[in-house]
Amino acid sequence: MISSPANLSHFWNSVRVASFRTKSHALLPCHRRRCCSSPVIAFSQHAEEQSLVVVGGGAAGVYASIRAKSLAPHLRVLVIEKGKPLAKVKISGGGRCNVTNGHFFDAARLVDNYPRGNRELRGSFFNIHGPKDTICWFSDHGVKLKTEDDGRVFPISNNSSSIVDCLLNEAKMRGVVLQMGKTVSEVSLSDSGQFLLKVEKRTMDLVEHFKADYVLMATGSSRQGYKIAIQLGHSIIDPVPSLFTFKIEDTELSNLSGVTFPKVKAKLKLKNIQKNLPEYTQVGPMLVTHWGLSGPVILRLSAWGARELFLSEYSGMLMVDFIPDIQLEDAKHILFQHKDQLAKIKASNSFPSQFNLVKRFWRYLLEREGLDADILWASISNNHLISLALLIKHCPFKIVGKGQFKDEFVTAGGIPLSEISLNTMESKVIPNLFFAGEILNVDGITGGFNFQNAWSGGYIAGTKIGERASNNSNKEIL
Ligand SMILES: Cc1cc2nc3c(=O)[nH]c(=O)nc-3n(C[C@H](O)[C@H](O)[C@H](O)COP(=O)(O)OP(=O)(O)OC[C@H]3O[C@@H](n4cnc5c(N)ncnc54)[C@H](O)[C@@H]3O)c2cc1C
Repeated sequence: MISSPANLSHFWNSVRVASFRTKSHALLPCHRRRCCSSPVIAFSQHAEEQSLVVVGGGAAGVYASIRAKSLAPHLRVLVIEKGKPLAKVKISGGGRCNVTNGHFFDAARLVDNYPRGNRELRGSFFNIHGPKDTICWFSDHGVKLKTEDDGRVFPISNNSSSIVDCLLNEAKMRGVVLQMGKTVSEVSLSDSGQFLLKVEKRTMDLVEHFKADYVLMATGSSRQGYKIAIQLGHSIIDPVPSLFTFKIEDTELSNLSGVTFPKVKAKLKLKNIQKNLPEYTQVGPMLVTHWGLSGPVILRLSAWGARELFLSEYSGMLMVDFIPDIQLEDAKHILFQHKDQLAKIKASNSFPSQFNLVKRFWRYLLEREGLDADILWASISNNHLISLALLIKHCPFKIVGKGQFKDEFVTAGGIPLSEISLNTMESKVIPNLFFAGEILNVDGITGGFNFQNAWSGGYIAGTKIGERASNNSNKEIL
């Protein structure tokens, strides 16, 4: 039977209390009020037992905890989550969870989908655990996945609960302990080289302290996670939003809300920022919304231009080619031909089928061109036809802000990859400190690439921690 996350979390809390109680009362988390100084809880029960505390029970944290525990069953693994575990997985992909992407098994091509990370992740990262490995992992653990035409991979149930339940069941089965509703507010190093974690439960005004041999920071884009990383000697590249829609200054555009274009070519032109800015161009589907433009092309442009858009305060120009497969001269010719053939027809009632446009949008173009909807084709001057062709090929839209697209957004910025060994995910600043997921300066475009970063990083960190814990315990036995 697959338990619901609610059942599982109840079970996990019971496991936690039971496992602490059966071994030693002294090890129970001591729920003291803030005014008391709480004793440090050695999460390991015996001196030879090693412990890992994972800060953050998201995709990266839970995946890593399972991997570490599967390689080192004796390793005590505690995941501390301030909210509910895997909350983003649950809501992701419109409730379906776009787990990864099935069109980029080749790591050298996969990296091209990461505006931040495309250079650094070129090495071992996705070769160690890439989309194919993710798909195998979930199928091996009983979740059947399907790849849609555009490469996005979803559970065949079309329900993110399949992924959440699978991960939580597996973690529970392996003996990973989860504590929810608790926030790690500080991490420091003790004289003995162990980590000391300050954990708070705000609703009850409680403070606990934990000791751990290994710490994995998997706090996503949380400010607290960045703060802890800074306390530990890391730097942070300023976080800015990525994957958002564009607010467009054009009141008439809202009348087209819901109109989709299967293939446009859109170019982002930003002002008020440094010269030599790369011009970002994307080809693909676009959608008109109530407040502007959305769809894969826009989201991809927002990701590639995330930092420059932030610097320009989300103002600039978007040039859209609505017929990217037709050259400008051919477009003019098609319009002249249409005029000849349908001279007596109203311009608003007929337009060249080669353009593959919808009537509402054609009327919008006529209006932008200053042409009356009732004008006959015969009455449109050749100059107007030339400028109509130009408008369809280079249609300018003024970007005046960032939309509130809530389906998928991530943060660009975080811990620089230069401060991490990408084949272990270990900090180059502090040994036995690991990072994975969105806390790093890695983000992908839409299509399952962001979860893939979390699975890959989590897997690599979990592997290294599990291997090191096994080696260390073998040494102690010898
Ligand atoms: C609405 C939405 C839909 C999305 N859909 C998709 C999709 O379909 N496909 C895709 O690839 N990507 C998607 N993404 C992006 C994806 O969710 C993230 O990239 C991914 O969740 C990052 O995983 P993570 O484990 O690094 O961080 P998170 O999933 O953010 O997990 C971090 C966890 O750490 C906890 N935490 C933070 N600070 C502390 C602390 N101090 N103490 C204790 N706990 C802490 C947080 O509560 C959180 O649960 C979506 C994002 C959003 C917002």
